[in-house]
Amino acid sequence: MTRPPHRTTKNTTRDPPPASDAGSARSTANRKARDERKEAHLRGIMDRYTEQFRAVGNQDAPSVARKVHIAIDDVLERDRKESANSGNIRCRKGCAHCCHGPVEIWPHEAALLLETARAAGMELDQARLERQSQYTMDTWRQQPAADRACGFLGGDGRCKVYEFRPNACRKLLVVTDPALCDADKHPPASVGRWFSWEAEILESAALEVFGAALMPRSLLAELRAETLDAKAQSRKENHK
Ligand code: SF4
Repeated sequence: MTRPPHRTTKNTTRDPPPASDAGSARSTANRKARDERKEAHLRGIMDRYTEQFRAVGNQDAPSVARKVHIAIDDVLERDRKESANSGNIRCRKGCAHCCHGPVEIWPHEAALLLETARAAGMELDQARLERQSQYTMDTWRQQPAADRACGFLGGDGRCKVYEFRPNACRKLLVVTDPALCDADKHPPASVGRWFSWEAEILESAALEVFGAALMPRSLLAELRAETLDAKAQSRKENHK
């Protein structure tokens, strides 16, 4: 009997990797699974805040801003308690290098800032806001140094609206030498920040849901809306 011709079969099973390769493949897979779990967790937090902010978006703007500020303060306080590194935060009253940079806010925060300024009898320098509003996040430092400071920064280096300051200011906490925050002398990369993932996500959700703009533009929009409201009110009274 003749033997059937030998058929070569494609070997679909690979030889097992050496033990050390198997260990590294396992740790890569574990790392990937951990990263995926973390990403899903962070996405869940983003979804939760997005939903919460969508639900309150049309309520009274200053009170929405106050509630969101309380929420971010709570998150920052909780995370600072749990972080060993947070003890190294160097931000102090009167240190105001970061108040000379662009600050992104959402309209409810602008409404709260304007309400606070009005209540304190503080006049906003509209001409400076107009000049500042010509600049973007990327071109901010191209404007004259005298114009770069936030309009709420006092001559003593303190924030005049500290209790009502935007989230962007609340969550900016540095752990490196405050001198490094002087962007005229040091590149931004030399500044080390302490940050809370949840506070970052909360603010991203607020900016996404409510809309983001640099502070001068946002304040000017509020001032214009205030003027329009006043005009509408006076028209109404004239028709009584
Ligand atoms: S609002 Fe206050 S803390 Fe924020 S940039 Fe202006 S002066 Fe600084």
